[in-house]
Amino acid sequence: MPRTIAIRSVDVDRPETWTRYRAGLCNTCRANCCTMPLEVKIEELVRLGWVDAFEAEHEPASRIAKRLIKDQLIDHFNHKQSLFTLARRSSGDCINLDAITRRCTVYERRPEICRLHPQTRSPRPGFCAYGARLDVI
Ligand code: SF4
Ligand code: SF4
Repeated sequence: MPRTIAIRSVDVDRPETWTRYRAGLCNTCRANCCTMPLEVKIEELVRLGWVDAFEAEHEPASRIAKRLIKDQLIDHFNHKQSLFTLARRSSGDCINLDAITRRCTVYERRPEICRLHPQTRSPRPGFCAYGARLDVI
């Protein structure tokens, strides 16, 4: 008799559909959390190597943002809070996500929120938008 595999569907925008996070879960995931909008501070852009420390200290943030938008590294700059939204591809993936391996290409330099998600920085702390990669279903 054919075996039926139940696949729970997840909606990244609906935290009530998320899975409780546990160690090792990321190994089989298609990195759905890396398709969510990501706002970062200027210090994190320095850590990423996209902004020079001197530039960060002396240039107006809006001018830096203008350059980063032109270079397609950020999508938006929030003037009021001085927050930069990292660019995403048309697929919704973070610009730093490898489309094939579903791994972060800047892991050692990734922003703070990526380090704290999903345990503390999450719309639903302790839960995440886990979705199994097709090759592991
Ligand atoms: S959605 Fe969850 S399991 Fe998937 S990569 Fe992000 S934190 Fe890991
Ligand atoms: S910087 Fe890396 S960990 Fe953070 S959202 Fe982008 S791909 Fe994911």
